[in-house]
Amino acid sequence: MKIGFIGLGNMGAPMAANLAKAGHEVTGFDMAPVEVAGVTRAASAAEAARGADVVVTMLPNGQILRAVAAEVIPAMTAGAALVDCSTVDVDSARAVAADAEAAGLLAVDAPVSGGIGGAAAGTLTFMAGGSEAAFDKAKPLFDIMGQKAVHCGDAGAGQAAKICNNMILGVTMIATCEAFALADKLGLDRQKMFDVVSTSSGYSWTMNAYCPAPGVGPQSPADNDYKPGFAAELMLKDLRLSQQAAGSADADTPMGQLAEALYARFVEEEDGKGMDFSAMLPRFEKRGRG
Ligand code: NAD
Repeated sequence: MKIGFIGLGNMGAPMAANLAKAGHEVTGFDMAPVEVAGVTRAASAAEAARGADVVVTMLPNGQILRAVAAEVIPAMTAGAALVDCSTVDVDSARAVAADAEAAGLLAVDAPVSGGIGGAAAGTLTFMAGGSEAAFDKAKPLFDIMGQKAVHCGDAGAGQAAKICNNMILGVTMIATCEAFALADKLGLDRQKMFDVVSTSSGYSWTMNAYCPAPGVGPQSPADNDYKPGFAAELMLKDLRLSQQAAGSADADTPMGQLAEALYARFVEEEDGKGMDFSAMLPRFEKRGRG
């Protein structure tokens, strides 16, 4: 296929490189002067999109996605697909899909989980929203860039799945970290805490697979001075998107709201920026109740 790839950052560059490696003809554009192995550089987003069967975008936020889509959609050929893999707000995902469909294009919102490691290894999970025909067109590319693609529903459903998952993740990480901090103060050994909780009803992905306590459980960013991994500011971004969506859908999400406030304080007022999101544990450890 002829593929246009817009947004060649930490995630987009390795994803585009994997598509090129698999034999697709990939033309890429980024505002920054980046070179990606196997990818031809275009001078603009519209140039990268012209004549492409599929245009993939991997951009920072919904506002930028809307601006890029406005430039790219008129340059695309009817029947081609616009596949946005960025994490953005549900409203932007739906607006871009509506514009693309009005221009005779197929559209998929397909945010990912798996991070930079998954992007490089081609093992991402895609959560997709859009028509059956749009999903089918994008699926062969998902199979190259990832190991699993779930068609979640109509436009916006991929973003909805992503932010609901990450709201659970943020809340569970905080719960796991505050429980460790309490266990410390009660004199409970961390390894014993892990042995019990990881096989009891408090188990979770954050405890069992991504334990925030160094030296306990499988290797995780905690064992590497809390270098990300998944940065606290990216968790904050996703929690904000979840609360923005909760606001527009009138959903009551008190734990998500609290998690957003805590990560905001951690990233913007304390020393959480640039740390993994599991660094909530040393944060709690240093504090008392007051
Ligand atoms: P990044 O900042 O490294 O990459 C974004 C790229 O977009 C940059 O290279 C930037 O120059 C480019 N860009 C910005 N505006 C542009 C424009 N108008 N035209 C063309 N290019 C433009 O970010 P990233 O880590 O690659 O993340 C991309 C998306 O993936 C985000 O939405 C993020 O939330 C999501 N995501 C990231 C991770 C992760 O672990 N990094 C995991 C899952 C999802």
